[in-house]
Amino acid sequence: MNNQNLKIAVTGALGRMGSLLIKEILKKKNIILSLAIVKNKSSVLHFRKQLCIKNKNVNFIICDSLKHQNKKFDILIDFSQPSASMKYLEYCVQHNKHLIIGTTGFNTIENETIKLASKKISIIQSSNFSIGINLIFNLLKDVTSIMSNNSDIEIIESHHRNKVDAPSGTAIEMGKIISKIMKIELDNNSIYHRVGNVGVRPNKKIGFSSIRAGNIIGEHTVMFANNDEEVLITHKAINRLSFIKGVIKAALWLPSQKNGLFNMKHVLNIQ
Ligand code: NAP
Repeated sequence: MNNQNLKIAVTGALGRMGSLLIKEILKKKNIILSLAIVKNKSSVLHFRKQLCIKNKNVNFIICDSLKHQNKKFDILIDFSQPSASMKYLEYCVQHNKHLIIGTTGFNTIENETIKLASKKISIIQSSNFSIGINLIFNLLKDVTSIMSNNSDIEIIESHHRNKVDAPSGTAIEMGKIISKIMKIELDNNSIYHRVGNVGVRPNKKIGFSSIRAGNIIGEHTVMFANNDEEVLITHKAINRLSFIKGVIKAALWLPSQKNGLFNMKHVLNIQ
């Protein structure tokens, strides 16, 4: 496929991520926004009204359903919520479309369904599209392999008050990377809640803390602490463009791939 004429459909078009993604795609010459997908009919009206107020030329379709739209786009980029993402996934499989999933908060069954679908279409799923966090994912492997023997590991994440899932997808991904290096099961070795008399901190457990406040875009710290020293690895997203730039990079990369489930490390070639 010629990347120059790549036609993109964006879901969650009125959301924080979807609306910014649309704004950035519209600035690009090498990719085309063909569809903006919103939740329902009233959202379609809302979107149109917004565009009219801003006096923008609208060369793309705004709709609340993908029905009859399969000829209109090559890649669907999804920043919505898990139950909607599952419907978009089903559609992409039926119509053989590339899919980029930015939505987080999937349960185990939904993640398995995504994995299964990737046997039929190419999918990039990433809990965090920023370049920096994906570099940290790699760094975590080295630090864990050296420090996890004698250190307590805590993952602390902070997000804006409207984020509905916790811990963040990025924090869970960090936990998965660390537990894999430690050769332990994350599910049985994570601590999500501490309240009351919780006793002495057990060894070899990964602690998670989630802060929800104000307008924080996304901050993640992984702490390795022992009696002699503490290592803190922190990433702060200053704005949502940090994610959007990665998403656009991923969209340009995906069409040349065969079916499969990819992540940003594949896109950035930092396996
Ligand atoms: P948001 O502002 O709440 O936007 C979500 C959008 O999805 C809204 O426009 C909402 O429509 C739409 N939506 C909700 N339910 C829907 C449904 N059933 N069918 C169709 N559309 C539906 O959230 P956000 O901050 O943009 O984040 C969206 C997702 O991306 C979250 O899961 C978040 O954790 C994730 N995220 C991922 C990354 C990454 O790098 N992977 C970065 C940031 C955020 P209405 O506005 O009409 O309710």
